[in-house]
Amino acid sequence: MKNGTMKDLLIEELRDIYNAEKQLTKALPRLARAASNQKLKQAFEAHKEETEGQIARLEQVFEKLETRARGKLCHAMEGLVEEARDIMEKDFPPELKDAALIAAAQKVEHYEIASYGTVHAYAQAIGERDVANLLEETLKEERATDEKLNRLAIDDVNKKAIKAA
Ligand code: FE
Ligand code: FE
Ligand code: FE
Repeated sequence: MKNGTMKDLLIEELRDIYNAEKQLTKALPRLARAASNQKLKQAFEAHKEETEGQIARLEQVFEKLETRARGKLCHAMEGLVEEARDIMEKDFPPELKDAALIAAAQKVEHYEIASYGTVHAYAQAIGERDVANLLEETLKEERATDEKLNRLAIDDVNKKAIKAA
């Protein structure tokens, strides 16, 4: 980028994550359907709702930055969703599939945590406090979702996966 500012870079990243979130709202109901564990199913459904709120929050962010809410294909999310799809198609026992679905979902959350961590830092760096606060809210939700999935895996799903074999 021979010309461009930190704000341009922030907007680029926001367009990537905006598209990533949209891909995710389509993938999460499929993940919920593929899950057998009720708590896992509910976690995916709850995060679908949350993701819709995150999309709305991003639209607020674009508005504050006085730029059009527009996505730019996120190749990483495409790949992560593709990997999740591979797992859904596998002939695993349900308990094992649940464990694998959590792994795929956590990879997604980690990608989002990295992305929101970046845009939050950029927004702070250029003094866009309202934008930074909005992005921080989502960052917290992504971290909480990752933690929830982690606990579900350790306390419940992985134990059942071992017994299922
Ligand atoms: Fe998200
Ligand atoms: Fe991306
Ligand atoms: Fe998420």
